[in-house]
Amino acid sequence: MKRIRAKKRYGQNFLKNGAVIEKIIQSMPATENVVVEIGPGLGDLTKKLLHKKDVIAFEIDEELCDVLRSQFKDELTDGSLSLHCGDVLESWNGNLVDEPYDLVANLPYYIATGIVLRALRDRECKNILVMLQKEVAQKFAAKEGEREFSALSVLAQSCGESKRLFDISPDSFDPPPKVTSSVLLIKKERSLEEREFEEFLKRAFSAPRKRLLKNLSSRYEKQRLLEIFAQLNVPENIRPHEATTSIYHRLYEILEQRKIDGKKSTEPAIAKTAKKS
Ligand code: SAM
Repeated sequence: MKRIRAKKRYGQNFLKNGAVIEKIIQSMPATENVVVEIGPGLGDLTKKLLHKKDVIAFEIDEELCDVLRSQFKDELTDGSLSLHCGDVLESWNGNLVDEPYDLVANLPYYIATGIVLRALRDRECKNILVMLQKEVAQKFAAKEGEREFSALSVLAQSCGESKRLFDISPDSFDPPPKVTSSVLLIKKERSLEEREFEEFLKRAFSAPRKRLLKNLSSRYEKQRLLEIFAQLNVPENIRPHEATTSIYHRLYEILEQRKIDGKKSTEPAIAKTAKKS
């Protein structure tokens, strides 16, 4: 078989450590859902996934699609594998597929954060088990009070339970990436419904080491914020990483008069006045 050269522009670092692949398989949630794999690459993880489940795979690199077509001829014929060649982000408007699925993948790192966010928004996506940069995994899995607690942590916690399972050193890949990787598991109980909530969190964490009150006062009146903070027993000098996910939900409900599931809030309109952005 022709030797494939890894393409940097597609974030290609092929996982070559069989023990790590096995650990990922062992970490899969026990569900009846089909598996979606983004970036099957040379198919090493895909082969193991197919021993467990049907797989729907999305691969951008035409050259790799040819390799996969010949390697998985039988599975493509019997329908246990479907392969979509092209940029997954282009086919991802709303739900990526039309049935409940678990995302299991060694992600291309240059778009890993965006992929996890889309999966959190996608109602058909039930669980997320992905390999990505350790730094990004830490953000998605951090708990309040930890230095890495960020808007991404709040979004992941808003959907369910999020955990960094284990780390993988660069020498498990060919070619080795410059960073350490981690496997992240998010067990979803619900999806993100409110893009406005994501914007709200961006503002709340805009200057992560400043006070939350200061960050939010770029949009909301300070006096109103002080009243709401007092009502919720939130200290005025709290930093963004110190507030809990449920505080962010309550603040959003009161300030924007909407719940994070998109429904109208029943809160009294104490803070309806918002500054113009
Ligand atoms: N799953 C393989 C493994 O574990 O060895 C390859 C993982 S490699 C880190 C990322 C894979 O994602 C590559 O095969 C790359 O071509 C593919 N990829 C990159 N960007 C993509 C995109 N926008 N849509 C679909 N696949 C993409």
